[in-house]
Amino acid sequence: MKVNTTYNTKEALLELYNKPLLELVFEAATVHRQYHNPREVQMSSLLSIKTGGCPEDCGYCPQAARYHTDVEAHKLMTVDSVIEQAKNAKANGSSRLCMGAAWREVRDNKDFDQVVEMVQAVNDLDMEVCCTLGMLSEDQAKRLKNAGLFAYNHNLDSSREFYKDIISTREYDNRLETIDNARKAGISVCSGGIIGMGEAVEDRIGMLMSYMQMENPPESIPINALVAVEGTPLEDQKPIEQWEMIRMVATTRIVFPQSVVRLSAGRTKMSMEAQALCFMAGASSIFAGDKLLTTPNPEFNEDKEMFDILGLIPKEPFQEGEKPESHPDPINEEKKRKAAEREKELAAARGKKADPNFSPRKVTIL
Ligand code: SF4
Repeated sequence: MKVNTTYNTKEALLELYNKPLLELVFEAATVHRQYHNPREVQMSSLLSIKTGGCPEDCGYCPQAARYHTDVEAHKLMTVDSVIEQAKNAKANGSSRLCMGAAWREVRDNKDFDQVVEMVQAVNDLDMEVCCTLGMLSEDQAKRLKNAGLFAYNHNLDSSREFYKDIISTREYDNRLETIDNARKAGISVCSGGIIGMGEAVEDRIGMLMSYMQMENPPESIPINALVAVEGTPLEDQKPIEQWEMIRMVATTRIVFPQSVVRLSAGRTKMSMEAQALCFMAGASSIFAGDKLLTTPNPEFNEDKEMFDILGLIPKEPFQEGEKPESHPDPINEEKKRKAAEREKELAAARGKKADPNFSPRKVTIL
């Protein structure tokens, strides 16, 4: 992915971010039109496939087990219910399904086997499949890729310096490593951040610098506004000004002209006019559906109305890359083979004729 080298220092980036707002939006809109169809906005759906009970301590997250929030923990969804939700999202115009599990990291266990099946099933529906499952090894990334995963999401959240104020249970470098593992497996990378957590503008710029320093910056950069949830350490943070979201979207668009900038969490607090300025400034994706993992989001119908008013059209899937092929997963195939064998043995045992010479021992009941 291309980087705009005009702004490759912190100072230049800061100056860009602080430009008179309408100048900034105009520059971003101009760049956007060189690389993207400005009428197309992708509708993506985010589905929490395993909710709550997470051992991490991300200060913004209501799914961390240590915080007392209203989020109820749920175990991993079944493959069938994920397919049902994916079909519903597709029928409502979504071309990408992002499946999120509240895990610290992916473990090689039956839950992961099930996620692999989900990836195959949703890819078969001709939707872009994205997963956000926590830290991931290169082998696990390869397994997901083989199943048909299109993108992996793993956010840097903020600058390296500010990250420590928000999360202590894992390091910034762990995040970079996971992104690298997804990249090595040939998976498209989705990675962005959250603004409004109490960070300085320099931290927002610092995060963009981290992406600029990557050999291959993310294909997809979600920009979230903090949704402060009661019970989390950031519960008292005031909502971010809409202008800051517009500035962040515009700056990201200018610096990463080819990447998809995603206007993500926090849209319920934004007016349609502010969202329109974000689209003007280069946001070309929203999350649709009334839930963003566990936090509220505008309903499908509200977004449809907004698209009609603004003359936007939902983007078709696989505009930014070919549909991955789903290949049979060796681990799940072996499991199926063993289950079929066992089923055969049981059926054979059930169908065995009784031994004609067998006579049960007489038991006297007193
Ligand atoms: S953001 Fe992810 S890793 Fe952090 S606490 Fe929430 S679910 Fe866990």
